[in-house]
Amino acid sequence: MKFQKIFDVIVVGGGHAGTEAALAAARCGAQTLLLTQNIETLGQMSCNPAIGGIGKGHLVKEIDALGGVMASAIDQAGIQFRILNASKGPAVRATRAQADRNLYKQAVRSTLENQPNLALFQQTVADLIVESGEAVGVKTQMGLEFYARAVVLTTGTFLGGKIHIGLQNYSGGRAGDAASIALAERLRELPFRVDRLKTGTPPRIDGRTIDYSKLQVQHGDDPVPVFSFLGKREDHPRQIPCYITRTNSETHDIIRSGLDRSPMYTGVIEGVGPRYCPSIEDKVMRFAERDSHQIFVEPEGLNTNEIYPNGISTSLPFEVQYQFVRSMLGFEQAEIIRPGYAIEYDFFDPRDLKSSLETKHMDGLFFAGQINGTTGYEEAAAQGLIAGLNAARRVLGLESWCPARDEAYIGVMIDDLITRGTQEPYRMFTSRAEYRLLLREDNADLRLTEKGRELGLVDEQRWRTFSEKREAIARLQGELAKKWIRAGSEQAAQAEQYWGKKLQKEASLMELLRRPEVDVGRLLGFAEAGDVPEQVAEQVAIQAKYAGYIDRQQTEINRTRRYDHLPLPDDVDYRNVSGLSNEVSEKLRQQRPETLGQASRIPGVTPAAISLLLVHLKKKS
Ligand code: FAD
Repeated sequence: MKFQKIFDVIVVGGGHAGTEAALAAARCGAQTLLLTQNIETLGQMSCNPAIGGIGKGHLVKEIDALGGVMASAIDQAGIQFRILNASKGPAVRATRAQADRNLYKQAVRSTLENQPNLALFQQTVADLIVESGEAVGVKTQMGLEFYARAVVLTTGTFLGGKIHIGLQNYSGGRAGDAASIALAERLRELPFRVDRLKTGTPPRIDGRTIDYSKLQVQHGDDPVPVFSFLGKREDHPRQIPCYITRTNSETHDIIRSGLDRSPMYTGVIEGVGPRYCPSIEDKVMRFAERDSHQIFVEPEGLNTNEIYPNGISTSLPFEVQYQFVRSMLGFEQAEIIRPGYAIEYDFFDPRDLKSSLETKHMDGLFFAGQINGTTGYEEAAAQGLIAGLNAARRVLGLESWCPARDEAYIGVMIDDLITRGTQEPYRMFTSRAEYRLLLREDNADLRLTEKGRELGLVDEQRWRTFSEKREAIARLQGELAKKWIRAGSEQAAQAEQYWGKKLQKEASLMELLRRPEVDVGRLLGFAEAGDVPEQVAEQVAIQAKYAGYIDRQQTEINRTRRYDHLPLPDDVDYRNVSGLSNEVSEKLRQQRPETLGQASRIPGVTPAAISLLLVHLKKKS
């Protein structure tokens, strides 16, 4: 049976990638359908109840700057907020929030339900409808056919998902949800390169059985940080603390004793797991010299006793989980509510994608999220936004858009994925960005909101707030540059008292602000600038203090941008590029990079090969 309405864009999957994809497509004016297995699990956090962290917080701010939902949802659901790396430079400072997972789901669902141009439907997709090599719709488990002009797949860990607990395993998309088997089989028939990855989750604990008096308490920051550029502290629900315990040598002995029944150590699991988020059995084996690991005891919400013990992800047999959990301080009487497990699933080689996240093998088909070999809610959501946007732009006959590596972490991630692929679950780190002094959390809106407005992603309210902030920054910078303090004056004496340094000659307040010891709050007192919003003062201070470094990075970007963005037309025949080795030519033919910059980042493509390509392109034009 055919569904009565034809859509512009169909998004399959209501996780973090799918919800951002559907919202982005709909915001751009495309008639969008979000088709998901279960409406109750829209925006569900499969693993840890937290958003943000180093590198990930940057992605959340960028999604927000482009009008996405993630930051605002965590502002409404966050029960503990912290700025990580607060004492380090602004480039690596990152916001992280513990979530009440039900409040988070509610916030996402309510945004979806109130989004114009967006329809929701609950069904499992079993097949793709393909006409003349183009994806034109999907068919569900009950045989219902939905047609559209672009399809975005965001099926997470569900494709061929297999859950492992000890040597037992069974089919599942995550605990409590069915795997996507029919769709996985259908996709395996298409010419995409497919492989298996795995990830894991810890057992959840009944908080009533934990002795908190033995644990170290960890409070959130005061004042409480806010995620969204439009957010306010008043949006947050009640804030509560987390706790810390540790594993010990007994815990490690118990874990080692169970390895003969571990699916990872007996070769039952073939997929590669996340190196940076290892299971506790991995940590015990890889860091054998350590007899203790820190475990964060994180509440799952305000109205539940369930606890997420962050750091003991495991797929050991249940009886081993039970024993090692009870060996930890404060957990002597702990009861497990849900066992820990690992999951193996299909993912597709992201080198088969364009930067728009459309697949190279089938027009109109886009992939986003865990299906592309990434791990993490933030990575998934960021890809979802780009895939949804570009699916809509394809339908509207507009050129695709993806930020460059010097514009956003989103650009760094997508470029990494499509040029280098991934052999293990890919997660974001600040170290992946070569221009991280420019790609800070604090300036994500200044980097992206104007572009988002042009693309149709940013609504009137966000645009107005952003424009006011941008004007206020420029105004304050102007005022600080105009106000001078004369050496030997009364003001200079006051300034010297504050900052403990003698003012040798006349200086503007802007010059003073550049000094590391000068704090913007006090400086504003001198400026008599009135009530300056926190975000504005922070931005002016960062731009002033890091001006030298920022300018240097900008100069480097300007120098490389011309070549980096040079398009490589579809019809370049790499076999005719004189001097190019067979190996490089084969790589370029297979991967078909869109720009010279992308080509240069494909492993094995040397600077010499890039020079040859450049000469070839110049000759052709
Ligand atoms: P998901 O959030 O998985 O969402 C997929 C959506 O698609 C679901 O709504 C599902 O119902 C729907 N769907 C699937 N198939 C179909 C179909 N055929 N038809 C209709 N709808 C369909 N991340 C970390 O960063 N750190 C971790 O330690 C970590 N551990 C994890 C442990 C486990 C056990 C699991 C399951 C995940 C873990 N993750 C972890 C990964 C994190 O959950 C994902 O990265 C993130 O949820 C991916 O988002 P997504 O939108 O791509 O997919």
